[in-house]
Amino acid sequence: MLLQISEPGLSPRPHQLKRAAGIDLGTTNSLVATVRSSERVTLTDEDGRDILPSIVRYTDEGVEVGVEAKASLLEDAENTLMSVKRLMGRSVNDVDVSLLPYRVREGENGTPFITTRRGEVTPVQVSAEILRALSARAREALGGPLDGVVITVPAYFDDAQRQATKDAARLAGMNVMRLLNEPTAAAVAYGLDEKAEGVIAVYDLGGGTFDISILRLKRGVFEVLSTGGDSALGGDDFDLAIARWCVEQWGLNASDLDGRAWRHLQEASKKAKEQLASDDQVDIKVEIQDQLRQAMLTRVQMDALLAPLVQKTLRACRKALRDAQIAADEIAEVVMVGGSTRTLSVRGQVAEFFGCEPLTSIDPDKVVALGAAAQADVLIGNKRDADMLLLDVIPLSLGLETMGGLAERVIDRNTVIPVARAQEFTTFKDGQTAMMIHVVQGERELVSDCRSLARFELHGIPPLAAGAARIRVAFQVDADGLLSVSAEETTSGVKSSVVVKPSYGLSEEEISTMLSASQNFAAEDMAARALAEQQVEADRLLEALRSALIADKHLLSEEELLQLEVGMEAVRQLRDSVTDHSVLSAAIEKLSQESDYFATRRMDRSIHDALAGHRVDEF
Ligand code: ADP
Ligand code: MG
Repeated sequence: MLLQISEPGLSPRPHQLKRAAGIDLGTTNSLVATVRSSERVTLTDEDGRDILPSIVRYTDEGVEVGVEAKASLLEDAENTLMSVKRLMGRSVNDVDVSLLPYRVREGENGTPFITTRRGEVTPVQVSAEILRALSARAREALGGPLDGVVITVPAYFDDAQRQATKDAARLAGMNVMRLLNEPTAAAVAYGLDEKAEGVIAVYDLGGGTFDISILRLKRGVFEVLSTGGDSALGGDDFDLAIARWCVEQWGLNASDLDGRAWRHLQEASKKAKEQLASDDQVDIKVEIQDQLRQAMLTRVQMDALLAPLVQKTLRACRKALRDAQIAADEIAEVVMVGGSTRTLSVRGQVAEFFGCEPLTSIDPDKVVALGAAAQADVLIGNKRDADMLLLDVIPLSLGLETMGGLAERVIDRNTVIPVARAQEFTTFKDGQTAMMIHVVQGERELVSDCRSLARFELHGIPPLAAGAARIRVAFQVDADGLLSVSAEETTSGVKSSVVVKPSYGLSEEEISTMLSASQNFAAEDMAARALAEQQVEADRLLEALRSALIADKHLLSEEELLQLEVGMEAVRQLRDSVTDHSVLSAAIEKLSQESDYFATRRMDRSIHDALAGHRVDEF
């Protein structure tokens, strides 16, 4: 069952359907889909093609996108940009750019700049061109500009990569209602979100990449349990294996083929592979060194050639299951995504591995876009009765640093997003006019064990006694998982805020490391937290006594003053030396009792002062 929420401003209005689309912005290919008369459909170009190659070419005249650009991939490689998704939100050091056929320069902070004949462009700009082409296609098909889109991203995309995707959409003039994880979109396309709870595997084998995601559906929320795969394994490797086999059959060496011949052989191999998804055998014909070569490939033969590659994907599946702490037979459904899952032996081996028949009825090229379209339709408010939203969750708790280096959780891990939570804090010192807000992420008790996300200061707090100011810190996480934090002193209305920078995104791996650390260190953390709390307590008492002494030292005899100072010094020293919180708390208790008479005397005095000069009957 899905949680039902209707987003503000998106409430459905009858007879006023809005134009919404789902976009699969892929590494190799991109698609746009929509819901038309309650049917999910992909949108095609004027030639009836729904797949748009994710390739952008900068020419002297302008920009070409898709099939047109792809045609120049070989002749004009430097200006024909493919696979830019690999560079989105990444620095030059994150990616092996030497393998790319175009020139990438490292800019400030490692930002990649691609040199083309029309000047330098960023991956975000290139992606924006692809989105513009899809947007134009949708405008044509739907009779007007899109009101909102859902764009899919890999589950492992971090904050920076997600932000880059949103930036590209903004550049293309799109209203992104939400970024959706690709595996989640595929699961939605099969209607799995309407099913009972369970664990789902999404097996995505494309042209150049393999991704496996293990998702848990619980109370209408898809939680990503683990992701894995291989960013350099896909259908292209299948083609290569077949091409190598042909060369061997013909008694040739790889060096006998020039670049042109290789390309033709690989093309022929790809065609043969695709044909073997329905036929039992195919002929491969290629001209090499002015001689026509021919080979007959049977499906059985191909299965044997591809087996080691398919096994490699299954090893990644095994690892993802281990990371998620799930056994293969606990998987309720396996969703197949990506063109290469049409290869029958892939389906067969995946079925065997998970012990269940994978879902293949929806075109594996379109399944992600179709799922995104379904979500877009709901989010824009077109679905009147069932305005259900798919919800994602926060992977790690978000909180603030409080006195003593402690992390105070504001939003717990696994909270459904979007979410807004606020908490009140106060000042520590008399007359304090500024406060440092330190936003952290993690499950550990001490700030030093959590990940720092942002720091900002709130200035202009009215000088009040310690504990009198009311500082309300509000956390807001939008549907894409981006966090903004604001702080306000509520008695004066002084405000300050920060949007957490995308470069602080965590990988799935980092998240799972942090989670297992929080479990391992729980006991240690409790002790550290208790000590830190006592240290704060010590500081509070010392600070209170210090300001009391400044104001009212004269209320004490010299002897009393000395005794108090000795007691304070003892607490001060213990505060920084003990590791057992109970020792410190005992010393605090003692000093607090010892200073009781001082507090009483000060109170008497202030009452006396207040009464002075007034007649008793005035009160
Ligand atoms: P990506 O996710 O990388 O953008 P796709 O999901 O579009 O890639 O998959 C492209 C791959 O699917 C190519 O290697 C292509 O050869 C392969 N493919 C397409 N149709 C078939 C088919 N009928 N049988 C086997 N492989 C296919
Ligand atoms: Mg894909």
